[in-house]
Amino acid sequence: MASEKEAALAATPSDSPTIFDKIISKELPSTVVYEDDKVLAFRDITPQGPVHILLIPKVRDGLTGLSKAEERHIDILGRLLYTAKLVAKQEGLDEGFRIVINDGPQGCQSVYHIHVHLIGGRQMNWPPG
Ligand code: ADP
Repeated sequence: MASEKEAALAATPSDSPTIFDKIISKELPSTVVYEDDKVLAFRDITPQGPVHILLIPKVRDGLTGLSKAEERHIDILGRLLYTAKLVAKQEGLDEGFRIVINDGPQGCQSVYHIHVHLIGGRQMNWPPG
């Protein structure tokens, strides 16, 4: 299987539907840990820690990545981060956690539907790779 970096470099930034659309429609199975009318949070299939959750907007609305954010996205961006905090609490990450938003090829983004990684349950290092 390709490494995360290879997958990211092979991914083409675009507006095409992504695998996350199938997760939102439940066409593809996922382990959902939180859901409301705007946000879906589910476990990453390749976890980088004991807890690794992806938070996504249910409607992408052009937000393929953070670099494409416009003023109309301010509410959903805030909601994604606030929901990440709620889910961190729900997952018992009381000692801390890491939030990551990969953007573009150099940021190692492989799925072009904005998503917040919530990773925790282990000691993190800095700087990230
Ligand atoms: P990277 O692949 O480098 O982590 P992204 O930031 O775009 O880049 O993250 C996409 C994430 O989506 C990856 O962590 C990957 O494991 C996850 N993922 C891909 N397909 C699925 C799936 N079907 N269910 C859950 N997570 C998935």
